[in-house]
Amino acid sequence: MQDHNITYSLIIPVFNEQEVLPLLVERLKSLTGKLDGAAEIIFVDDGSSDGTWELLKEYSRNEEAFRLIRFSRNFGHQIAITAGMDAACGEAVIVMDADLQDPPEVVLQMAQKWREGFEIVYAQREQRKGESLFKRASAALFYRFLQRMTDIDIPVDTGDFRLIGRRALETFKAMPERQRFVRGMFAWMGYPQAAVKFCRPARAAGETKYPLARMLRLAATGMLSFSDRPLRLALWLGAAVSGMAVLYGLYVMALWLFDASLVPGWASIMIVTSFLSGVNLMMLGIIGLYIGSIFEQVQSRPLYVVQERDGFEKKPHNQVEELQKRLEKAYA
Ligand code: UDP
Ligand code: MG
Repeated sequence: MQDHNITYSLIIPVFNEQEVLPLLVERLKSLTGKLDGAAEIIFVDDGSSDGTWELLKEYSRNEEAFRLIRFSRNFGHQIAITAGMDAACGEAVIVMDADLQDPPEVVLQMAQKWREGFEIVYAQREQRKGESLFKRASAALFYRFLQRMTDIDIPVDTGDFRLIGRRALETFKAMPERQRFVRGMFAWMGYPQAAVKFCRPARAAGETKYPLARMLRLAATGMLSFSDRPLRLALWLGAAVSGMAVLYGLYVMALWLFDASLVPGWASIMIVTSFLSGVNLMMLGIIGLYIGSIFEQVQSRPLYVVQERDGFEKKPHNQVEELQKRLEKAYA
């Protein structure tokens, strides 16, 4: 549903972020003051177990622009973003992290590009600060690997920090997939897209909510939902191994023809058998992953469960209407 009084909807997923909230709220207030249109800020609490929700409600009482959604449990970052998109009323929607690693000031540049006619404006990291060498290296590797493995052009070094116009938002909402890799979905849909470069600072407070296991899961989701190359790889590997087996068979036959004493050979049999079982299991695993996501899709449960909503009844501050009223009064 679109509300013509609101130009910008900011979507911020939060998961146990009580340390960073006070800093975030200050920066957001200064941002909305500089934007060239009315804004709403939608916080999606992804099942926090600290004081995040209470703190948000506290802020929401004084901030007209704040809207809150609380999940019944932790559904994950990508789903939290989706819930925010479903609730957004603005003409342009901006997704950003709560930890100020996506600096709110960059949104001003994004808005400018959007005004120039780009439907999707994504923020591309030129530099990352305050993150471990391992995180930086694995992220750099992941984005490049993903680009080779998928058929669509997912921009490198780009997370979920982006601005999306109404049309792209409606397209996004029409995509019912459960294995959600949001940055891939926006790359897939096309539309004129532009990049804004920025330097990614360190987390302002608190700890990362993306430990290695979660990062790997996100990487797998990205790969599975945007590529059938792992399956084709399985096919080629299978063909290559069969080819080698045929060659080896010929060799064994030649041995048998020219030399009758053929008892030794335990080592080679062991190697071939264990290698083949390994390849078999790996391929079954890859197929299993795809079947798993098909199963999940077929079950078609709702993507998330909302426990509580707050602040959606608040009317945004409408400058135009107010000005009109004042004018009417003046001329009455
Ligand atoms: N987040 C979330 N649900 C989760 C994990 C993270 O909503 O299950 C949010 C988190 O609060 C933050 C954003 O997603 O606003 C990015 O997480 P984080 O900064 O911890 O990831 P990193 O920048 O370390 O990759
Ligand atoms: Mg972060």
